[in-house]
Amino acid sequence: MAASNTGETVRVIVRCRPINQREIDLKSQTIVSMNTQINQIMLENIEQSNEPPKQFTFDAVYPVDSVTENIYADSVFPLVESVLEGYNATVFAYGQTGSGKSYTMQGINTPGSLQRGVIPRSFEHIFEASSVAAGTKYLIRASYLEIYNESIRDLLGKDVKATLDLKEHVDKGVHVPNLTWHQCTSVVDCERLMDKGNKSRVTGATLMNKDSSRSHSIFTILTEMCTRSELDGKDHIRVGKLNLVDLAGSERQSKTHAEGERLREATRINLSLSALGNVISALVDGHSKHIPYRDSKLTRLLQDSLGGNTKTLMIAAISPAHDNYDETLSTLRYANRAK
Ligand code: ADP
Repeated sequence: MAASNTGETVRVIVRCRPINQREIDLKSQTIVSMNTQINQIMLENIEQSNEPPKQFTFDAVYPVDSVTENIYADSVFPLVESVLEGYNATVFAYGQTGSGKSYTMQGINTPGSLQRGVIPRSFEHIFEASSVAAGTKYLIRASYLEIYNESIRDLLGKDVKATLDLKEHVDKGVHVPNLTWHQCTSVVDCERLMDKGNKSRVTGATLMNKDSSRSHSIFTILTEMCTRSELDGKDHIRVGKLNLVDLAGSERQSKTHAEGERLREATRINLSLSALGNVISALVDGHSKHIPYRDSKLTRLLQDSLGGNTKTLMIAAISPAHDNYDETLSTLRYANRAK
């Protein structure tokens, strides 16, 4: 079946956060500039002043004073609409730790704030649609898991330390048995789940002596819509799935001075990010016969929500400061491959 929704299937946007106090104290210069008319971003290398700035073009670029409300309206709204039509969609936030991934995904969670995050805005969007759709019954359920070092944990389950398997089933496809799904009847229900999961992410990290910025978190909203047809009197069911993914920090381990087990962990995390990059670039390429979903838990888990009739949004988050030049360049290159 062809997707009823037109337009590109993978969209890549870049958001630059404002310079922070630490960077100001370090007298770090701003090296990122943007031309929002032509969606271009320029990155200066001030140590090589004779080198022209590196230029990249994306589907949209958002400078330091931009608000999540606009990012949502431009880029997330169409994805959630397609979920309400019964398709799957995925939003990724990619970037080094401290670049604004959580700020964009979770945001300032006060109603009315322009910086309210993508996750609460998606809840609101889905519940608003369900409240006005006469004749259609909605069942909305959510799950929240994290992948750390190729192990899956349920952030809403009883035991945050328990690891879950990933199974392939003829009918169900790739799924996680024993992952808890929670029915939501309001935006508040969803927000409670998000808060609960965020707390277990932090407590779990402390219990297991790990760093939560090194894990991927996936908040999934499953929307089942049942409409009785006036023609045949039968129920027609559509199911759409929205995955909201806050990826592990993309920084390379050389900067984090990791050793031993930590270094092995960091290498695996970078492997799963590169597996994701390979899947997305194979999808964008359009000619690849083989999409390497099987190379990481993250891509296996999201297999039914990447490619085909699904829509994907990659939000690359960057810092404007010179001391992050290498990481910013690597984020822009990664994002550029996904176009
Ligand atoms: P990450 O999730 O990538 O590690 P965060 O989202 O936690 O990064 O952001 C790091 C810090 O920068 C936080 O204090 C956050 O409030 C701030 N920040 C990030 N993006 C913005 C922005 N667009 N505007 C203002 N502050 C921001």
